[in-house]
Amino acid sequence: MREFDYRRAEDVPGAVALLDADPDARYLGGGTNLVDLMKTGVERPARLVDVRQLPLDQIESTDDGGLSIGATVTNSDLAAHPEVRRRYPALSQAVLAGASGQLRNMATVGGNLLQRTRCGYFADVTKPCNKRLPGSGCPAVEGEHHNHAVLGASEHCIAVHPSDMGVALTAFDAVVSYRTADGAGEVPLADFYLPVGDTPHRETALPPGALITGVTLPPVPSASRSRYRKVRERASYAFAIGSVAAALDVSDGVVREARLAFGAVASRPWRAYAAEHVLNGAPASADRFAAAADAELAGARTLPGNAYKVTLMRNLAVAVLSELAEETAR
Ligand SMILES: Cc1cc2nc3c(=O)[nH]c(=O)nc-3n(C[C@H](O)[C@H](O)[C@H](O)COP(=O)(O)OP(=O)(O)OC[C@H]3O[C@@H](n4cnc5c(N)ncnc54)[C@H](O)[C@@H]3O)c2cc1C
Ligand code: SF4
Repeated sequence: MREFDYRRAEDVPGAVALLDADPDARYLGGGTNLVDLMKTGVERPARLVDVRQLPLDQIESTDDGGLSIGATVTNSDLAAHPEVRRRYPALSQAVLAGASGQLRNMATVGGNLLQRTRCGYFADVTKPCNKRLPGSGCPAVEGEHHNHAVLGASEHCIAVHPSDMGVALTAFDAVVSYRTADGAGEVPLADFYLPVGDTPHRETALPPGALITGVTLPPVPSASRSRYRKVRERASYAFAIGSVAAALDVSDGVVREARLAFGAVASRPWRAYAAEHVLNGAPASADRFAAAADAELAGARTLPGNAYKVTLMRNLAVAVLSELAEETAR
């Protein structure tokens, strides 16, 4: 591992100034992703700016009835918070579906959103990878790609975003707040992750040196009956090979509002807008749920090793929506 300087930031302006002073520095949240990447040489920062002591560890109700979540709130505290569990249960379920208890105790909201892909070629510095080394190629297309993207990818990169938390936050229209030396800013999560195109190394819309300060959830009444379901390759902790976050408001057998997001299918948590369009105002029936999933997955581009994801995601979406509809009817 390259030798590095370590600083613990005392306040937000101080953290931003420390990073601004050194373009080779990185913020350190729980370190559960960054430190692993430093050990393998994928990340080689000259300085770590530890943000865990910043006063960004609170979850508070907003005036409009939403929730504001600080960037250094741990995954464990987020999942356990009574208002998260009551108002956005799919968010709590998504966080608990990710990693292990020990990791969740360390990992933070900001770090979870900025964790890097688990594509094996990205993590192996002896292999080419357009995301790690622009222009070097993408061996996953011809090689191992069973957990790679079927939506929104390009021939330059087919990696998926691994966050479970991000999928639920996407379904609920979360907004990310950040701070740079020039001041504060916000970006909706829907615009936070950049399209892959021919620049897979450019991952987010955050300005250089930006410190994520928090995430805001708007009030979403249907979210109180929401659900997150994750499929993974082993029962103990593992990243998703497919996941769904859904919220459904049904009355008189008609869908009044549907929210649907897919995980582990794209380079970002994938909001299923086409499916929502099919669902809204339609009968809450299994046929319609399947038609909605098909509408979203019509744009899928598969490779031999990941074609199974289309059927997986269709079945997952139909199962979760059907369960939510049944519960609403009771
Ligand atoms: C074995 C294992 C299994 C896992 N399984 C899952 C899983 O199933 N689902 C899942 O979602 N996740 C999973 N994770 C990932 C884990 O959730 C992430 O490692 C964690 O969320 C990252 O958070 P962190 O605070 O430790 O980030 P760090 O490792 O500290 O940082 C990650 C990145 O975010 C940046 N960063 C951190 N905080 C900020 C901030 N406030 N502002 C700007 N930049 C910041 C860092 O500079 C770095 O680039 C797993 C991890 C491991 C090791
Ligand atoms: S899929 Fe993306 S991250 Fe993986 S090798 Fe290709 S370019 Fe790199």
